[in-house]
This record gives sequence, structure tokens and C-alpha cells, in this order.
Amino acid sequence: MMQNNNISPEEENQMIDLAYQNLLNGYLSSNHRKKVEIIDKAFKFARDAHQGIRRRSGEPYILHPIAVATIVNQEIGLGSTSISAALLHDVVEDTDYTVEDIEAQFGEKIARIVDGLTKISGGIFGDKASLQAENFRKLLLTMSEDIRVVLIKMADRLHNMRTLSSMPPNKQYKIAGETLYIYAPLAHRLGLYAIKTELEDLSFKYNHPAEYQRISEQISASEESRNELFARFSAPIRERLDNMGLVYEFNTRVKSCYSIWNKMQTKHIPFEEVYDLYAARIVFECDDESAEKRICWNIYNEITEVYAKHPDRVRDWLTTPKVNKYRALHVTVMGPDGNWVEVQIRSRKMDDIAERGFAAHWKYKIGEAEEEDELEAWLSTITDILKDPEPNAIDFLDTIKLNLFASEIVVFTPKGETMTLPKGATVLDVAFILHTDLGTHCIAGKVNHKLVPLSYKLSGGDQVEILTSNSNTPKPDWEKYLVTAKGKTRLRAALKHQRRLIIEKGEKRFNEFLAEHNIKLTNEVLSHAITRQRIANKEELFFLIGNGEIALNEELVSNKGQSPRINWWRRNIFKSKEEPKPEPQSESKDSEAAINTKAVYPLTTRNGVSNYQIADCCHPIPGDDVVGFLNDANRVVVHKMDCPTLARLKASYGSRLLETRWEDITDRFQATIQIEGIDQMGILQSIVNIISTNMSINMKRMNVTADQGVFNCELVVLISDTKAVNNLCREIKKIKGVNTATRMS
Ligand code: MN
Repeated sequence: MMQNNNISPEEENQMIDLAYQNLLNGYLSSNHRKKVEIIDKAFKFARDAHQGIRRRSGEPYILHPIAVATIVNQEIGLGSTSISAALLHDVVEDTDYTVEDIEAQFGEKIARIVDGLTKISGGIFGDKASLQAENFRKLLLTMSEDIRVVLIKMADRLHNMRTLSSMPPNKQYKIAGETLYIYAPLAHRLGLYAIKTELEDLSFKYNHPAEYQRISEQISASEESRNELFARFSAPIRERLDNMGLVYEFNTRVKSCYSIWNKMQTKHIPFEEVYDLYAARIVFECDDESAEKRICWNIYNEITEVYAKHPDRVRDWLTTPKVNKYRALHVTVMGPDGNWVEVQIRSRKMDDIAERGFAAHWKYKIGEAEEEDELEAWLSTITDILKDPEPNAIDFLDTIKLNLFASEIVVFTPKGETMTLPKGATVLDVAFILHTDLGTHCIAGKVNHKLVPLSYKLSGGDQVEILTSNSNTPKPDWEKYLVTAKGKTRLRAALKHQRRLIIEKGEKRFNEFLAEHNIKLTNEVLSHAITRQRIANKEELFFLIGNGEIALNEELVSNKGQSPRINWWRRNIFKSKEEPKPEPQSESKDSEAAINTKAVYPLTTRNGVSNYQIADCCHPIPGDDVVGFLNDANRVVVHKMDCPTLARLKASYGSRLLETRWEDITDRFQATIQIEGIDQMGILQSIVNIISTNMSINMKRMNVTADQGVFNCELVVLISDTKAVNNLCREIKKIKGVNTATRMS
């Protein structure tokens, strides 16, 4: 812990007493029943419990609970129970005292709140949280029994934000991000506008220090001209309001740095073009509640007689207040400089409620108010807001999204950790940022519990889960799905590593092949193979061998043998294969080709060279009834018996058809399987498991869409024959949630 050496222990105690006295004075001047005793007890208990502990800034720790309690009372408007709980809020978490100790000393109510605060510090709001909107809503509803927990937590966060400068930058960034995406929208929802604005501005300051600095400077630089302009604008209105005999304040409020910046971002305009930098506000004194509304409209009439009003921008929150009880009349008029100016018209009471939410209610209570009753009434308002089907969970998420920086999004991991990403970032970016291994094995993602492909572009507020498969390897074309530099760098490194492994494997197999055939490794042998394959160097050669794209045979290393065309062709076939071919013996062993004795054309592969070509139109696989067609290049193209293309060929070129049958095939063939079902946890993983545990199947591609609970998957596999396909479909159909799994033609 840091020591603040400039301050003596006596001075420190004075500081603590002063802070506490300030808290008490604020409380005593409020309309709450005066229960100083319990507050005093809580203060002393907390002070002793945190004795000797310091904050990161070097201050005595107790100053933090005092500050939180002060916010709870003076800015949120809560009374003795909440003040005491705020003073004690970190005791259970940070000291040896337990909730039972608190209960013994302060009773069940305060203990329950402290317990709630301790739990959410590491739980719901902490690192392990799932920050889904729905969870939020549930959280608030379950907590509304003790909404004070949420409110004190809000005060805690506000004080931590106000003192954030003493944290290391990486923590600042994380806390600021979390504040912007969780606490500020929550404050907004709870009607705590002043706190919401402050939280936003502080978050912005730490997330984008340079921009914050620049905008602050621009605001103060333009202050003088703004004041002049406002003086010109307000003079004729003041005259009329004076004539009405009103007691009022008429001033301007500059927007917060954050909202100015937000506007610049969303509208793509420079600071100078944010014309509604400020709103003008008229707050008039009025004791007669029944006259408030009429006075607002009278003021409106006076203003619109001086200036032209914007036809679409009159907001009447008098007749229909906002759900959170906001009441005011807004009008936008054309100022003398030709710019629109918004004028907000409110009574003093309306203004207090708008700015301070709950805190303002106390002020208008006659006599001493009972915290419980007041909370009750206010709670029912909040509960209404939360239960209201209109601003539902989705809407809440939208609120979070609205606050997004234009160029950045923040997403959540299933553990509730936040991650700031550039706009356009994908599931694959997240996977690679979390860990290279997650990236290289990523097969898909779950966004807000729905399956999405790894190329899926994320939106702010999304919850992202990465699905992996151990057998999956990184692909070069993934780069086009990545927008983060970190993701790209890690993918390239992984590909390089993978390539290295394949080259080593290819080289080993090449050397083994030479040894088996008693061929000495010479430069001549190597350059022959390289030239023959029309490739650049031996790395490429070994890579293609390791990858299974170049077959090992005698032609590769000697001049005798077949024309290169066959090899060329063979490479095309295997180009799409992602897994290396199985062990070399199938290639080196002499598998005697079936001899074409009759008019039957046996489909076979020998030494890795096939004597046929699979038709692109119908993709037959061994087991299918097939017919061969001799094409112009004298190659036998194999079609399914019932292929429509074949039917057409049959009509014109009947003589070129060959009776064919499958024989001795070691190749794998492409088959597409369509899977449909109900989207369930782990369904994709189960499918992948079946494929990866079955050695005769390679997965080539998987396209997954999940729409409103319906799971749809197009699976492309490399497979030996129809039997294997049927088996695979049968196995997949056994997975819970899968309705159909059929091979597509
Ligand atoms: Mn705290």
C-alpha cells in the first residue's frame, strides 16, 4: 500500500471527521427522520474495521465508504438505512467481519443489504456475470425487494469513477467500459440523470482521453461567443417573462463532452458543426402545482412569438410524462444566428425530479418522511418500468447499444467479461483475441445463445461464446473474416506454425518413400519433382506432399511413367482436401487394379491416381448407382444413374456411355448433408463429435444458421461411400434436437 507521507495521522483523522461531518450535515438538512445514532454506529464500526487500510490513492480506506454514503444520501436521496449500509458496504468483503456480525450489530435489514452488495461485487456485476439484458431485468426485478442494493452499488461505482485516476490504465479502461455499458444505462433507467451523465462523461474521459481533452478545450474556447449568442437570444424572452411577473432562471447548459462526441461520431461532423451544443432551460418558481402546466404553455407562447419554432420538435411531457416521471415542455426555435436552439421549460419541482430522480421526492414531502414508504412508492415505479412490455429486455439492450462508440463495440464473454472491439469484428476475432488455441480450433460461435458462423459480425452488447473442435485447423482464407490486428497476427503465426509441421511431415514421407524405393536423395531427384509439379521450391513440394496434394509415386521422382496431365488432374481432385491422405502404405502397396475384361469400366484408384472424374453436377460417391461418360478429353466422367445432366448427355451421345462399377476405391468423396432441428445447447458440438470420432469422415465445410430457435446446418463431408453417409445420417439423427439429417443431391 502506498503511504501518503505529507499528512500526519492527526491530520488524517481530521480529514475523516470532516468528511463524516459533511455526510451528517447533509443528512440532517434533508427531510428524513433523524436517526443519527445508527449512522454514527455504522461509521465507527466501518472506521475500525478498515483501520490501517488505504486506498490505492494513499487515502485512508474509510474515506471511500463515507463518500459512497454521501452520494447515497445527497445525490440519490436515501435515508439512514441506506447510509448505514453504504458505510458498511465493503466491510464483509474486505475485512474479517461476516454478515452475521453485521446482523448482530445492525439488525437484519442492513445486514441483508450489505450481503447483497458483497454478493454483487464479485457476482452479478462482477467478473463472473452474464450480462444479458434479460438477466439484467431479472436481476433488477429480484432485487427490487431491496433496490437499495442496486442504488448503493451505483453510488459505489460513481465514487470509484470519480477516483479512477489512481488506478493503473488497463484497469481504468476496463472499469470505464463496464461503467458505460452497464451502469450508465442503468442509471438512466432509474431516472438518475445527473449520475448517468457524469458516469458517461467519466467513462469517456478514460476510454478516449485525447478526444475528451480536445472537446473540453473546444468547449471552453467557444464559451465567450456562446455566451454572447445566448445573451442576444435570451434578451427578448427575458423581457416577456419579466412582464409575466415570473420568478425564474434562464440559463444554458452545455452538453456533456460525451454526448457532443457521440453526436460528432454518429453524424460524422466536426465540433464546429454541432450546433445544438447547448440547450436553454427556463426553470420557474411555482408553489401552486395546479398552475404549473398552464405557466409552461404561457412561456411557450411567449417564446414562439419571438422566434420561429421547429414544427417537428415540440415535446409535451406535461400531458404525458415519461414512464420515469419526467415532466417538461421542450420547444426548438430558430435563434438569431440562424441555428436551432432547444428550450426546456420546467417548474422547479419538475427540474429537481428530472435531475435527481428519487432524491427529489424527499424535498417535496411535507414533514418528516419515512424511508420505507417512500422507497415503496418509488420502487413500484421502477418495477413498472421494468415490467412494461414496451421497454423490454431487447429495448434495454438497445439502450446499451445506443451508447456505443461509433467506431467501437463492446461485447461480453459468457463469464460477463467485457471486450472492446473495432466495429465489424467477428466471432473469429474474439476467438483469437482470447487465445490463439481458441482461434485455431474455432468452428463457430454462439451469439446471444444462437449458433453463428465464425465469420459472424458482432454488434455491441452481444454475448459471445466460442465453439471449438480439437480436429479443426486454421485456414488461410480466414484472414478475410478478421478485422483486428491481434487476430490477424495470431492467425498468420498459427498458419506459419501449421505449415512448418506439414512441411516436416511431407519431408519425412518423401525421404521414407525414397528409402523404400532405393532411390538416393539428390538435387536432381528433388528438382525433377519440383519441375514436374510446376512449383517453386522444395518447401512447397514437401508442403504439398504433407498436405496430401501431391501423391508420392515413382513418376514424381523419375522421368519414366505417365504424362504429367494425370498428375495435374489428380492435384485438382485433392485440392479441396483439408486433411492429409492417410498412411502411405495405401499408396506404396500395389493394389492390383481390376482389369477391364468386359464392357464394364471399373472405377479404381491405383497408386493414388484415379482413372475417372467425379461429375460436378451430381457428386456420386461409392455405393451410388453410376454411369460413366467418356468426355472430349477421353476422361471417364462418373455420374449418378439418375442425374439429369446425364439424361441429357444420354440423348445426344449415347455411344459414349460406359457401364461402370466401383472397385477398390480409397478416395474420399464429397457429400452434402442437410441437418435440421431445434437449436439447443451443444447441438453443434455433438455433430462435430460424431464426425471427428469417425475416422473415415473428414469435415470439409459446415454452414450453420440458427433462426428463431430453428437450427439449420449444411454439412459438407469427405466420405468413402453411401454406407458411411447413411451411417453418419443415422448417428446425427440420434442427437437430441435434430429432426432430419439427409444427404442432398
Ligand atoms: Mn466500494
